[in-house]
Amino acid sequence: MAVIQTKALSRSFIRGTEQINALSGVTLEIHHGEFIAIIGPSGSGKSTLMYILGLLDRQTGGSYWLDGKLTDDLTDDERAALRNQKIGFVFQSFHLLPWATAERNVALPLVYQESHGESLGERVMMERARESLIAVGLSDRLKHKPTELSGGQRQRVAIARALVNKPQILFADEPTGNLDSKSGSEILELFHKLHESGVTVIMVTHDNQIAAKADRKIRLFDGQIAEDTGHAAP
Ligand code: ADP
Ligand code: MG
Repeated sequence: MAVIQTKALSRSFIRGTEQINALSGVTLEIHHGEFIAIIGPSGSGKSTLMYILGLLDRQTGGSYWLDGKLTDDLTDDERAALRNQKIGFVFQSFHLLPWATAERNVALPLVYQESHGESLGERVMMERARESLIAVGLSDRLKHKPTELSGGQRQRVAIARALVNKPQILFADEPTGNLDSKSGSEILELFHKLHESGVTVIMVTHDNQIAAKADRKIRLFDGQIAEDTGHAAP
């Protein structure tokens, strides 16, 4: 079964009297365990697609099934709960709380879960945050704040936060875009390790060398799929 399935997905924005069709007619199937690079020029709809697939935005047309469940008619709360349970998201600009330590930042999704009825307790939350930071190689940076970390380390904190709920799918929107090439390849290596451990990885990149390392490439142009190298044969 596909973990992600979309049918004729579209997303338009209205700006003044102008309608912008950021996505038009995207039909896709993604299976568990794939490693996918989404590529295409600036403005082609890559981020819009990632946000919709990551349940951070809603399409204006078409349908989206996540793990076989139709998401179209879910309420915002139901979508947030599903996102928390199944999805990790990594952004180009890290999106960390500047005043909070690495372990606090990583514990954040667990605090959300706690406020929605699942009681973990402070001690367990911090323990899980630390485990996640250790998994991305930051065991010696638990109490550091984002300003006390390098760009590559900040992105690893963001990845640890994305992983703390043990998501099935990890989305990353140009995760190496703000990093030097050495830190960028370290982050990429980390994604490959996660992929080997069974996580489905879907990554936006404009770097062709990075894209070449993915199992499957989906190229967007003007909000449509211009090329899809397809699901690798098992
Ligand atoms: P990419 O990530 O490939 O650079 P985006 O998905 O960010 O492209 O944007 C696709 C198109 O949608 C662009 O023309 C962009 O200007 C437009 N767009 C994206 N978000 C919004 C928004 N919130 N309001 C209006 N237009 C938007
Ligand atoms: Mg973008």
